[in-house]
Amino acid sequence: TTILGIESSCDETAAAVCKDGKIINNIIATQSIHESYGGVVPELASRAHQKNLIPVINEALVAADIKMSDLDAIAYTQGPGLLGALLVGSSFAKTAAMALGIPIIPINHMQAHVLAHFIEDPMPEFPFLCLTVSGGHTQIVRVNSHLDMSIIGQSKDDAVGEAFDKCAKLLGVGYPGGPKIDQLAKTGDAKRFTFPHSDIPDLDYSFSGIKTAFMYFLRDGMKKNDQFINENINDLAASLQGTLIDMLFVKLKLAAKREKIKNIAIAGGVSANSGLRNRLLSDADKYGWKVFIPKFEYCTDNAAMIATAGYYHLKAGKTGTLRDSPQPRMSFS
Ligand code: ATP
Ligand code: MG
Ligand code: FE
Repeated sequence: TTILGIESSCDETAAAVCKDGKIINNIIATQSIHESYGGVVPELASRAHQKNLIPVINEALVAADIKMSDLDAIAYTQGPGLLGALLVGSSFAKTAAMALGIPIIPINHMQAHVLAHFIEDPMPEFPFLCLTVSGGHTQIVRVNSHLDMSIIGQSKDDAVGEAFDKCAKLLGVGYPGGPKIDQLAKTGDAKRFTFPHSDIPDLDYSFSGIKTAFMYFLRDGMKKNDQFINENINDLAASLQGTLIDMLFVKLKLAAKREKIKNIAIAGGVSANSGLRNRLLSDADKYGWKVFIPKFEYCTDNAAMIATAGYYHLKAGKTGTLRDSPQPRMSFS
């Protein structure tokens, strides 16, 4: 079977072709237009998706050496995401599937981030825990099988990626801030400054407090020395990143213990963070975990994960209809 995957939930327009479960290509057009606004502007995202979607899909088909008529199914992101952005991908998917008379498969974007682990070897063994950390979500997911997974912990407010991005903005290093903080942190001292950890029960998270604490910390520093940020930017980035990673891993460790699971995976854009990856490797040694870390290109938004999710849905006979509508707040489990 040949499946086309389409992703358009936020600011990446992406397409990928999957043949018999194997990803053939992974085409992504990142919208740079949002950089000058310091965040994603929904209306501009929709327009950029409209402009980029067909060229991106064409590129994926050409790279796979196939035509539209060779497709057996189309998988697309149904949600969560920006409504206008989701509409562009879903409208294309529905129209094409109807014209070709092939099944259409609506995919949950957060489930697809987890299924990115099944694009290439080594694939995790079930059951495993997946820490999904992205721009809009922070979740600990218990994964029993490809399609059976449940959220056992999540952020009650901001996502960790949002904390990275907003704190980066306070440091004046631009958008998206996660990769910039990662870079600056490499030569910084993570022990230099301390920021309060939020104290929230069970396996849940809260990341809105640290953003506020960081803002006041910078303001106080700048009052005493107006070069405070410039002079300490690497240590500030490293200390902030260290705190965010600590917060993530306190709950991840608790989840592993509670669920008695030692197969641990990470997914989502923030899992590209080098400090987080290193921490996972050192905790793996400490606690005897077997860990799974996706390639960089499969961490942030991509359509390879959507096509792969489509493959498992199709195999299980789970397809959608033309009546399915985009779901900006779509959840699973
Ligand atoms: P969601 O998946 O929740 O709908 P999203 O699709 O916008 O949100 P992703 O594309 O998966 O999120 O991830 C984007 C986020 O990842 C941004 O917040 C970005 O700053 C963060 N990010 C990317 N690379 C890094 C990095 N190296 N270090 C920290 N954060 C990073
Ligand atoms: Mg993005
Ligand atoms: Fe995402």
